[in-house]
Amino acid sequence: MSPALDSDVLVLGGGIAGIQCALDVADAGLGAVLVERAPSIGGTMAMLDKTFPTLDCSVCIEAPKMLDLSSTRGIRLVAHADLVALEGGAGAFRATVIQRPRHVLPDCTACGRCEEVCPVEVPAEFDQGTRRRKAIFMPHVHSVPRTYTLDLEACRRWGGGCRECWVVCREEVGHNLIDFWQKPETLTLNVASVVVATGLQPWDPTPLEEYAYGRERNVITAAQLERLLNSAGPTQGSVPVLAREGRPRVALIQCVGSRDLRWMDYCSKVCCTYAAKQAVLVKEQCPRSEVVVFFMDRRYYGKDYDVLYRRARSLGVEYRRGRPWRVAGIERGERLSICYEDTTGGGVREEAFDLVVLCAALQPPSDQPALARILGVDLDGAGFLREPDPLRRPLETTRPGVFACGFARGPADVAEAVAQATAAAASAAAMAVGNGRTTAAPAAEEARH
Ligand SMILES: Cc1cc2nc3c(=O)[nH]c(=O)nc-3n(C[C@H](O)[C@H](O)[C@H](O)COP(=O)(O)OP(=O)(O)OC[C@H]3O[C@@H](n4cnc5c(N)ncnc54)[C@H](O)[C@@H]3O)c2cc1C
Ligand code: SF4
Ligand code: SF4
Repeated sequence: MSPALDSDVLVLGGGIAGIQCALDVADAGLGAVLVERAPSIGGTMAMLDKTFPTLDCSVCIEAPKMLDLSSTRGIRLVAHADLVALEGGAGAFRATVIQRPRHVLPDCTACGRCEEVCPVEVPAEFDQGTRRRKAIFMPHVHSVPRTYTLDLEACRRWGGGCRECWVVCREEVGHNLIDFWQKPETLTLNVASVVVATGLQPWDPTPLEEYAYGRERNVITAAQLERLLNSAGPTQGSVPVLAREGRPRVALIQCVGSRDLRWMDYCSKVCCTYAAKQAVLVKEQCPRSEVVVFFMDRRYYGKDYDVLYRRARSLGVEYRRGRPWRVAGIERGERLSICYEDTTGGGVREEAFDLVVLCAALQPPSDQPALARILGVDLDGAGFLREPDPLRRPLETTRPGVFACGFARGPADVAEAVAQATAAAASAAAMAVGNGRTTAAPAAEEARH
């Protein structure tokens, strides 16, 4: 029989919005179950280097919340899991969740010996492919829960199941925690309300052939630059081309796939500001570099966000108004040329750069349509959760009792995602209290694995 986890609120997605929402539900004295698809919570913010507008270290803000979540009485974390059904209605939902096997038991001490001996390497999703991970892995140093995950598909495909990890964990570490035969487990959750916080997915700009992404090694995405700038990233925070002699030239191209009728017609909202942030961080790392930002419009919509633009300008960052139409490799791929129309100064121009960074559109996760069918909610034209009454009740979806916050309901920065999460927690908690439910869950623990 599948174990039933009764609680008050089901939070779907463990990025900053979902984490904040679950913490606020628990603060109100109610119970929350947080279901996260990935092996660790943290979402996109865990991947960032510094965060605008303050340029605080991103993980220094998020990691304490991740730890709080894992130790707060009233919150139960179910990571590496998928929602597969949602029956019932507001006040009395019955959710079915499949916990995928980790193939590593929860007593794992994260000693990392299995990872050291594993011979299989595949691109690391968390690092946006800027480094490789082993088949048995922990996504990042701040992962919560701190249990390793064995990617059985990568293991079988490339390693043929050498069992080195099993041997070292059993014989050397003395734990015997690896279970190749672990099966998925079905969990039933009875909850009063649901909050969807499934966040964003950066668009892969490969189809935009004119920008040469995937063909030229020095054309990268802004998400990849975040990992290269990050001291816990693959290069310990040093962007390789900035070590070149002379004055390395870096171009950031905004609106790649955003506000483009061929791809995503909407504005991804955060790119203008994070491009200014990244330009500042590049200049701070290498003051002799030349940084140029190509833009259509500058939309620094938040309080004090244009301060970052002024800081970038004061450091010598140049802004060129015009959408480049071609990026091509020159000097045997060592450098890149960008062709663009300068709509301010006039004329068609070509300039050479050492690194081109694409600020790619931010989309809902690709499986959002399938999730919407499970949740019984509508999506808008861009694939974000649709609010039937955005002015009066902006966090409600088309199914009563199901709320949305953060990037799942449309582009939002961290501060907005956190504010929305707190508001969604209040609505979801009010629904639980209104239905006479206050089933504070047991002390935080991951459901089984
Ligand atoms: C390159 C880049 C730089 C940025 N820089 C900044 C910055 O400096 N300052 C700033 O304020 N903002 C910045 N942002 C935006 C910021 O990342 C978002 O505002 C923030 O991450 C939104 O949080 P979220 O929780 O809504 O979504 P996410 O952080 O995307 O989290 C969503 C979570 O839901 C999980 N999930 C997805 N689908 C499911 C499912 N079906 N079931 C269960 N779980 C699921 C995901 O695995 C993830 O853990 C930047 C974004 C990018 C791409
Ligand atoms: S060797 Fe065992 S205890 Fe150590 S990280 Fe691997 S699974 Fe966990
Ligand atoms: S059995 Fe698989 S996961 Fe374990 S060490 Fe060998 S390749 Fe790596």
